[in-house]
Amino acid sequence: MTQLKGNNIPVTHEAEDDSANIVLINTCGFIDSAKQESIDTIMRYVEAKKDGVVDKVYVSGCLSERYKADLVAEIPEVDAFFGTREVPNILKALKADYKHELLGERLITTDSHYAYLKIAEGCDRPCSFCAIPLMRGKHVSVPIEQLVSQAENLASQGVKELLLIAQDSTYYGLDLYGKRNLAELLEKIANVEGIEWVRLHYAFPTGFPEDILEVMAEHPNICAYLDIPLQHGSTNMLKLMRRGTTREKTEALIEKIRAKVPNIAIRTTLIVGHPGETEEDFDEMVDFVQRMKFERLGVFPYSHEDNTHSGTMDDNVPEEVKEDRAMELMSIQEDISRAHNQKKIGTVQKVLFDRIESGYFVGRTEFDSPEVDNEVLVPVTEDTYVRIGDFAEVKITDASEFDLYGELLN
Ligand code: SF4
Repeated sequence: MTQLKGNNIPVTHEAEDDSANIVLINTCGFIDSAKQESIDTIMRYVEAKKDGVVDKVYVSGCLSERYKADLVAEIPEVDAFFGTREVPNILKALKADYKHELLGERLITTDSHYAYLKIAEGCDRPCSFCAIPLMRGKHVSVPIEQLVSQAENLASQGVKELLLIAQDSTYYGLDLYGKRNLAELLEKIANVEGIEWVRLHYAFPTGFPEDILEVMAEHPNICAYLDIPLQHGSTNMLKLMRRGTTREKTEALIEKIRAKVPNIAIRTTLIVGHPGETEEDFDEMVDFVQRMKFERLGVFPYSHEDNTHSGTMDDNVPEEVKEDRAMELMSIQEDISRAHNQKKIGTVQKVLFDRIESGYFVGRTEFDSPEVDNEVLVPVTEDTYVRIGDFAEVKITDASEFDLYGELLN
């Protein structure tokens, strides 16, 4: 988007009004529902093209990378399909030049006070259920200097919170520097002036670089937050899923993380109903969730993905059992989450405010990532005011299972 702007081509992210004459749809090809959403969006603009509302429809991203031949045959009305690493070709189609001097510059599409910083692309892990390496290729780390310069650039645009993402953030550096050096990267990003929160997502548990825990504990602006997708709590299943770890090792790692970074909020995701998951495996998962008491949890029913190892196995857990297992885990998590939240009543939290909605200023603590985690709600009254994108101190007065309620202190 920055490249287009640099070529004097006006560009709007998620323009809802169909006023653009060229539409570029960046697709997701991860799971069925995401694929469907991508197809629906493509069809919506194919119709708009037929009606003469838009002139050209281009499609890029993971769905396009994964199913290009099928898509070309099925939806010929699309002017061109591009894969995941074809920015130069997209620019060519849009009659724009690639401008090297814009490398590292970003047009922010999130609310302007936070931004995602992609530290690597692709993945070298062999997880049996996952199609991401097929779409995103091998792991490629972005050099530290480039990321620091992006972070500085974002800070100068008013970004206060940076969310570090990658398919596998704990692998960061291995390809480029011959060692895992997420710790060095975190430290350098934390030292960028103006960045008040740095948040780490998608830390794969196997080969976890424990030196990051010291860096997290030492830097108050690195959020006491870790998103570490664990996928299962039974060693049998972890083996079937090719995760390279066991339940015992995972529990030991979680204990170490909690010991080194006090008060840390751990977010994880789990898959239920992977081929071969027995009642005993699920019971182990229940016990795992009850013991680990994660602060944040997402549970997903398994679905077969084309060309993956799990995709060749018998999808032998019935759909309704998958759904029931997911619901059972989420209902256990509700109690865990409520108990965590209730401990916050009476405390004062630093909150970053994201929006105003339904009579509340809605914000987050350092323990919550946007879109996926808990929120803090402060009623809008005549004498309360906080600017969106600002931090404020909030006294927590009440808590539900997934939200906190409070009043402004300043
Ligand atoms: S680490 Fe994540 S992205 Fe990589 S293969 Fe495993 S699940 Fe997929």
